[in-house]
Amino acid sequence: MFNALVVNKDEDSGKTSAAVQQIGLDDLPEADVTVAVEYSTINYKDGLCIGSGGGLVRKYPHVPGIDFAGTVEASGDDRYKAGDKVVLTGWRVGEAHWGGYSQKARVRADWLVPLPDRLDTRAAMAVGTAGFTAMLAVMALEDHGLTPGHGPVLVTGAAGGVGSVATAILANLGYEVAGVTGRPETAEYLKSLGASQIVAREEINETTKRPLEGETWAGCIDAVGGTMLARVLGQMKYGASVAAVGLAGGAALPTTVIPFLLRGVNLLGIDSVMQPYDNRLRAWKRIASDLPMDKLEAMVTPATLADLPQLGADILKGRVKGRVVVDVN
Ligand code: NDP
Repeated sequence: MFNALVVNKDEDSGKTSAAVQQIGLDDLPEADVTVAVEYSTINYKDGLCIGSGGGLVRKYPHVPGIDFAGTVEASGDDRYKAGDKVVLTGWRVGEAHWGGYSQKARVRADWLVPLPDRLDTRAAMAVGTAGFTAMLAVMALEDHGLTPGHGPVLVTGAAGGVGSVATAILANLGYEVAGVTGRPETAEYLKSLGASQIVAREEINETTKRPLEGETWAGCIDAVGGTMLARVLGQMKYGASVAAVGLAGGAALPTTVIPFLLRGVNLLGIDSVMQPYDNRLRAWKRIASDLPMDKLEAMVTPATLADLPQLGADILKGRVKGRVVVDVN
């Protein structure tokens, strides 16, 4: 028997509740690789899955945790053998399939990635889905022509998980980074990660009737969506790109086509869940080379399985700073 965070649903009231419980190997879903999980983390989606499910969880009892890193214990697939270190993000693990908030997980070999060189399992989860997605966003901006020296790159939701990692990677690559935050008390933290400018959330979170404003940003990684993304589109430099990652501020996009038509602005969608394997390897390799490990460590708050119900509620309210590393053992 081993520990897992199990979410149960009361059929009468429809309410869910999460608690650490003992489960056994026979409880795990059928799949070809069993992993002894060492670390997991918390992402915005985990907050939903620990709580009401947010439409992501179909079946209860459920074990959340959309990402984990650990050691293969048993494998029915030639690509992995016992003792291999692995990372998993995405593929709807932790939503449709039981996830990483457990001392053991059983998953498909197709979903795993070998632990990247130069990262241990703890560092891999300090990065987690949030950091992996931040790297995908940086790669997408570069693929669309972003290079240092053409003005500030905006990062919205900067003190959150995606935002913190994006800030550290961009600054390390030589970009001037402007971080948008609704938490002024995180300014020193963001500067320590490499942000050279802090933009107050209120400054950029209001609607404007003007479809175009001054050309300000050479690129943007947006974790917020909603009104903020709409506003940012009208502030981009000619031909610049915005990588749309998240919806922490809302899923609606109240904008016009004017920034696309008159300024050639590009809106690049970023999805980490269904990324093809080769691009996953590319992103993890870039993380190992372009994310300074001391900056990553400065983002980390340690936690255990028992802390997750509270952390789940906190991340949905935008109260988690940087990255939380969950030691499941
Ligand atoms: P976090 O909660 O760690 O970060 C989100 C940040 O957004 C907060 O820290 C806060 O930053 C800001 N924020 C929160 N609420 C609001 C609001 N109402 N208005 C404006 N800003 C707000 O989450 P993650 O970094 O893990 O994820 C960020 C987003 O990216 C989420 O929507 C998540 O679902 C999405 N995501 C998407 C992925 C993909 O594959 N496309 C993968 C991973 C995440 P501050 O306090 O600095 O203002």
